[in-house]
Amino acid sequence: MTIETTNPETLALHAAFRSDPATGAVAVPIYQTTSYQFDSTEHASNLFALKELGNVYTRIMNPTTDVLEQRVAALEGGAAALAVSSGQAAEAIAIQNICHAGDNIVTGTDLYGGTWNLFKNTFKTMGIEVRFVDPTDPENFRRATDDRTRAYFAETVPNPKLTVFPIKEVADIGRELGVPLIVDNTAAPLLCRPFDHGAAVVVYSTTKYIGGHGTSIGGLIVDGGNFDWEKHADRFPMLNQPDPSYHGAVWTEAVKPLGPIAYVLKARVTLLRDLGAAMSPFNAFQFIQGLETLPLRMREHCRNAQAVADYLKGHPAVTKVIFAGAQEDAEQKRRADAYLTGGYGGLVGFELKGGLEAGRAFIDALEMFYHVANIGDARSLAIHPATTTHSQLSPEEQLATGVSEGYVRLSVGIEHIDDILKDLDQALETAGKLDLAA
Ligand code: PLP
Repeated sequence: MTIETTNPETLALHAAFRSDPATGAVAVPIYQTTSYQFDSTEHASNLFALKELGNVYTRIMNPTTDVLEQRVAALEGGAAALAVSSGQAAEAIAIQNICHAGDNIVTGTDLYGGTWNLFKNTFKTMGIEVRFVDPTDPENFRRATDDRTRAYFAETVPNPKLTVFPIKEVADIGRELGVPLIVDNTAAPLLCRPFDHGAAVVVYSTTKYIGGHGTSIGGLIVDGGNFDWEKHADRFPMLNQPDPSYHGAVWTEAVKPLGPIAYVLKARVTLLRDLGAAMSPFNAFQFIQGLETLPLRMREHCRNAQAVADYLKGHPAVTKVIFAGAQEDAEQKRRADAYLTGGYGGLVGFELKGGLEAGRAFIDALEMFYHVANIGDARSLAIHPATTTHSQLSPEEQLATGVSEGYVRLSVGIEHIDDILKDLDQALETAGKLDLAA
């Protein structure tokens, strides 16, 4: 029985699975198997020919992973999803699925460091050009587009700047020119629904909020099923011309009986098959556990982060607070309100008056916050980018990415707000003493 609803709280618990048909188990079982017995030679050849969809081999599909994929697709309002081994793999496959040597993509400059490296260095070695543009002006995407542009890419809420990407503005330009927008929504699951604003593909590092427990690395690609790949056949030969790696299948034709899933089905049966970056069934199970409470957790993350931002704003040791919900610029504020309809998220940055030494002292004084290079955990996390994630950049480069010497990034967790503020308060007192000494 399927539960008819669009409410995320219910979908997160019930979409795509009610109980195990074999045992009645209510929790999604971990199907820890590599392969699946075929009913007959006809069944086997139908599966390989995609005349029928079904399980063949866990590198390509798995019943536990399938529940995670369907649940996230339902929550996102997409057509179908593909789970992979990490957020990095999700980004790489999402782009390589429609882009090969000689092609290019256009991306906003505000990106997670791992994504930046993938785009700047690894894709370059593969002959894929990445054009970096300032997302403040959406028209920069149009200006950087040519007939070899295969996708636009951006993060909904990139840190450390925490400015919100103009999703609809860039998606509209892309739809006019025949270029799909791929959005990394890792920092804003449920808070932002990129397909509602015209994005064609959403990617996630499930490692962060979707898991929430900080136990597993994983990624997802969600196909909005809303982009007309056939209309722009010249731009997408990989989806519209016979694929020699799959006995000449033309993906836009082959999937017609299955729905608007040409993009994500091709990613599964070619790139996941060939590159092998599969999510393990055990990790899929872990992400299903996380997903069940995601709506509740996101609410708490948002509530606590807002309280932290308010508290920091009044603190004498703090010169600036960076928060998606506290944009000084009117256009940035409009974007935050237009796209983060479910809340401003759990990330908060701030700058310490005492600079580098105060940043260091603040981190070392924390008692409850963990000092880790991660975001989106249920626990509160902190990092001082100038001495860690951004330490290899010059001071000028650091500033261009939004990191000053005294910048601290918090990923506010779901502990009691009193305990969160108490820890920040005592660490700021230590950091504040350095201002006085200076
Ligand atoms: N996208 C964003 C916004 C991230 O913050 C991260 C990791 O920090 C990634 C992608 C990469 O994800 P993963 O670490 O799961 O490969």
